[in-house]
Amino acid sequence: MSGVHELQTTRTGWYVAEVAETRRETPTAARISLDVAGWPGNLPGQHLDVRLTAPDGYTATRSYSIASSGDGERVVLAVDRLPDGEVSPFLVDEVRPGDRLEVHGPLGAFFVWRPPAAGATGRPVQLIAGGSGVVPLVAMARAHAEAGDPTPFKLLYSVRTPEDVFFAAELESARRGPAPLEVDLVYTRRAPAGSTSTVGRITRDRLASAVIDAEAAPTVYVCGSTGFVERVAGWLIELGHRQTAIRTERYGGT
Ligand SMILES: Cc1cc2nc3c(=O)[nH]c(=O)nc-3n(C[C@H](O)[C@H](O)[C@H](O)COP(=O)(O)OP(=O)(O)OC[C@H]3O[C@@H](n4cnc5c(N)ncnc54)[C@H](O)[C@@H]3O)c2cc1C
Repeated sequence: MSGVHELQTTRTGWYVAEVAETRRETPTAARISLDVAGWPGNLPGQHLDVRLTAPDGYTATRSYSIASSGDGERVVLAVDRLPDGEVSPFLVDEVRPGDRLEVHGPLGAFFVWRPPAAGATGRPVQLIAGGSGVVPLVAMARAHAEAGDPTPFKLLYSVRTPEDVFFAAELESARRGPAPLEVDLVYTRRAPAGSTSTVGRITRDRLASAVIDAEAAPTVYVCGSTGFVERVAGWLIELGHRQTAIRTERYGGT
């Protein structure tokens, strides 16, 4: 995919986003910060569509979660490269500051977290991510920290290796903040040196021991590949979590 540099106009409902900054997020992923003139702001958990247009007019559109939230025209994405993918290798390896992309959004009304009203107590929140599925959950964790919300927040995060953790510094600061985020990492291929954690995919038992108990009635946000989300959501139901309290975002794949 190429031709993004030739983009001149925005079509109805779409914004022109200028790439402000790119950086390596993990060995296979990039963080892309966009300046989107006229962006209306977004809630933690929402996503947008990115549309690329080739010189011959061919377009490809993909959805990406937004790691930032609130007002302002700076929008932060993190994209993992899928080998043989059409769009993600371009976004991870080719996009440079100054390039322009088309974006549409913010999208999504159900997979969002809002801080409780002043003086109110929110429900506990359990976040569960596989790989890049942590992106919208990072926006929620940041908003929770910024709101100083005392509601318990926990993250169970499955990644291949320690180097594959997205937003590691942000998660660490949320973990040490005044409204601490409890972070539980599950490594599927390699744990940090010296760690005694078991290496392997999340199992039903591991999930049961890590997540907020169903009796505490948490809202649970699950995000990642479709296979990961469906497996985890099925186990949550078996563990007694109410279907209506489980919010899912499926990225595709198995
Ligand atoms: C609401 C939403 C939010 C998303 N947010 C993010 C995000 O924040 N970061 C991010 O990196 N991706 C995110 N995705 C996934 C993203 O939209 C693309 O699907 C992904 O970048 C692959 O696009 P591609 O064109 O490179 O691959 P394609 O050319 O579309 O697909 C290549 C191959 O990979 C398979 N595949 C597609 N998606 C996945 C997947 N997620 N896991 C495994 N295999 C897959 C396809 O079946 C196909 O075989 C999100 C998806 C949705 C629906």
